[in-house]
Amino acid sequence: MDSRRGDPGSEDSRGPAPSPHLEKLLLTAESYGHVSTEIACSARHFTKAERLRRSITIGVAMFLAAVVSLPVPGWHFAGVPLFLFLSFKLSQQRLEQKYAIATVGGPCPACGSPQDFDLPTAPKFPLTLSCSSCRNYIKLHDLRPRA
Ligand SMILES: [Zn+2]
Repeated sequence: MDSRRGDPGSEDSRGPAPSPHLEKLLLTAESYGHVSTEIACSARHFTKAERLRRSITIGVAMFLAAVVSLPVPGWHFAGVPLFLFLSFKLSQQRLEQKYAIATVGGPCPACGSPQDFDLPTAPKFPLTLSCSSCRNYIKLHDLRPRA
């Protein structure tokens, strides 16, 4: 579903270019009764223009899916409203999404074992997870000042 990110205008399609907007986020992980640890996290920052472009891309894609669903008997009752809703909802989400989490990793505050957290690309902090080895709850905080 996320495969339509190529730019039709560009001739050079040798895979994604290294992003100039990759930035480090400072996260801490805390677990009840343990000293909190720092978590390394890199995230791709979206500029206003990128947010707008991503929003329009998904909005148009979902709108086209609604148009394609239109002549399909039976399916159009569900498909058209579904894709129109997704068109609005996903484009609004992408317009508001300022960054996408790329990688998150660090020691568990409870047991110290290295964690490779699988986060959603646009998480809302603080985020509660559980350690894969000791099963303790871990709360991730974003240390950047709130915008
Ligand atoms: Zn642990």
